[in-house]
Amino acid sequence: MNSLKAYTLFSSSKGNSSYITYGSTSFLIDAGGSLKSISEKIAALGGDVKKLSGVFISHEHADHTKGLEFLSKKHGIPIYTHPKCMDVIGMTAPSAEGFLVPTEAGDTVYMGDLKVTVYPTPHDSVRSFCYRVESPKGSLGYVTDIGHISDSVQDAIFGCDKVLIESNHDIDMLKSGPYPEFLKERILGRRGHLSNGACACVAPVLARCGSRSITLAHLSETNNTPRLAYGAVKEKLEEYGVKLCGECFAGDVVLKVASPAEITEI
Ligand SMILES: [Zn+2]
Ligand SMILES: [Zn+2]
Repeated sequence: MNSLKAYTLFSSSKGNSSYITYGSTSFLIDAGGSLKSISEKIAALGGDVKKLSGVFISHEHADHTKGLEFLSKKHGIPIYTHPKCMDVIGMTAPSAEGFLVPTEAGDTVYMGDLKVTVYPTPHDSVRSFCYRVESPKGSLGYVTDIGHISDSVQDAIFGCDKVLIESNHDIDMLKSGPYPEFLKERILGRRGHLSNGACACVAPVLARCGSRSITLAHLSETNNTPRLAYGAVKEKLEEYGVKLCGECFAGDVVLKVASPAEITEI
């Protein structure tokens, strides 16, 4: 029987890409890894990079786009992103421009039995998006690279069975860490990245709205650890009486941290 499956292939400040599949339909969200590693990981999941229906690009930053040039050149896969993002992407990935499917916030894209709705996000890029993916059997909210939980981000992710959400940094680690001041300010800003604490605050709302799987993603390798991200969200969920699923999966919510370089099921 078909079911909505989603996996991160990479997830960190260095590179982000996820593989979504339902029946014979599959697509990527972001392509921040080499074509070789993306292809190998899709194959390990029983898929085929050549059969992708498209790749949704959340925004133009390199950690989301660096595989695009070769993905376009070799396989000619449609790229769903904003034309202003493509203007920037095209400077380093000229082959990608020919495969642009211009995409705006508010658009809905149908692929097989999947419906993907595009929402705007608060981030310091030319345009940036998050996604709500709906199938006949389950839904996925997908959001990274956000300075705060805006109304449109809530619209995208609330009520989804599975949610992937950024948990980028521990504020104390960032403030006392090696980054220059301007970069710290950028990350902490309303259009920067989501902290563990801010992610933790929305997690109980996700659980209350019906999410049964929460995957923490896009962790900074300098300003965060999986233990800190997981711990912050776990503590908040438990404070609100949400039970985490252990090995036996008896509980309310499965909480995971996406691996930077290994496949993680969302
Ligand atoms: Zn970004
Ligand atoms: Zn990013």
